Amino acid sequence: MKLIDSFGRQINYLRLSITDRCNLRCRYCMSTDGVATCSHKEILSYEDLQLIAETAVSMGIEKIRVTGGEPLVREGVVPFLARLSGIDGLRHLAISSNGILLSKMAQDLYLAGVQRLNISIDSLEEEKYRQITRGGELKMVFAGLKAAEKAGFPAPKINVVAMRGFNDDEIIAFTELTKTHGYSVRFIEYMPTLELAGWQQQVISGQEILDRISRRYALEEVEKGAYAGPSKDYRIPGAFGTIGIITAVSGHFCATCNRIRITSTGKAKSCLFSNQSTDLVPCLRLGDRTGVRRKLEELVWNKPECHSISIDGYKHDNFLMSQVGG
Ligand code: SAM
Ligand code: SF4
Repeated sequence: MKLIDSFGRQINYLRLSITDRCNLRCRYCMSTDGVATCSHKEILSYEDLQLIAETAVSMGIEKIRVTGGEPLVREGVVPFLARLSGIDGLRHLAISSNGILLSKMAQDLYLAGVQRLNISIDSLEEEKYRQITRGGELKMVFAGLKAAEKAGFPAPKINVVAMRGFNDDEIIAFTELTKTHGYSVRFIEYMPTLELAGWQQQVISGQEILDRISRRYALEEVEKGAYAGPSKDYRIPGAFGTIGIITAVSGHFCATCNRIRITSTGKAKSCLFSNQSTDLVPCLRLGDRTGVRRKLEELVWNKPECHSISIDGYKHDNFLMSQVGG
């Protein structure tokens, strides 16, 4: 079965946020004064998350990414992932994580059936990493990457939110990681979710990132693999890994968008920047699978053609990426 929206796009990818809590507080994701997390009661139970996942897969979703907040901080995440990976028809299960807890959990995640890891690292310098994450220890993330490799995971995707004046001086260092490691390093344009003052100056367009790398290296384009994300991918000839550019702000990838999102409190969103969401909780309270299905069908059908943010002007309500899941 295929899930198709009103613009003919096939929707086969679900991002499932299982918590809004996190063991880091990245500056671009959470506000300076901390975040009012939702109450425990509001966060969906694993049973509800499973019901949503099963329903979505029965409708045509093939790939699920579990995200957050930081998914690895939620108690019981490993058995939950094992249950998800057992859903008949699900072809790809991935998680997005900051990697802080990965060294302890990599083996269990692998055994639970997680197939791929996306790990966020915004600086390769310890002090700068500490600053952007408000206290994170980079060494722990690299220990996690090592443990993941040992456990049998394929080389992870490394997500880097590129910000002018902060980590743009590391674009080449991140690129050069791919010469020695099979990582897919993906530069993500900084998105103005919190509308921080002067955000426009901090956005570096994907094109500028590419230009800067191209001045140093002749890049070759890379064909997209199955279940590849929205990045445009390149390789330094002979390198083990690839680099990718995700132009979330400057050049929309809306025309090929294949995803829907569920927040940790059960709101379904068809576009990250849409102000609209569909509350699945009333159906979940009744264990009403048909109701969840109907709401997801409606959500997909009403998926907007394109989001409306750009560097020149954008319209959306501020939101916490940690609540939506990125
Ligand atoms: N905690 C996990 C992590 O950091 O990977 C998963 C959740 S996080 C919200 C998912 C992704 O959203 C991360 O790659 C993060 O860098 C990205 N993200 C958060 N806020 C962002 C922003 N304002 N602009 C661009 N990407 C952002
Ligand atoms: Fe936490 Fe991920 Fe947001 Fe950083 S980007 S604060 S790690 S949820």
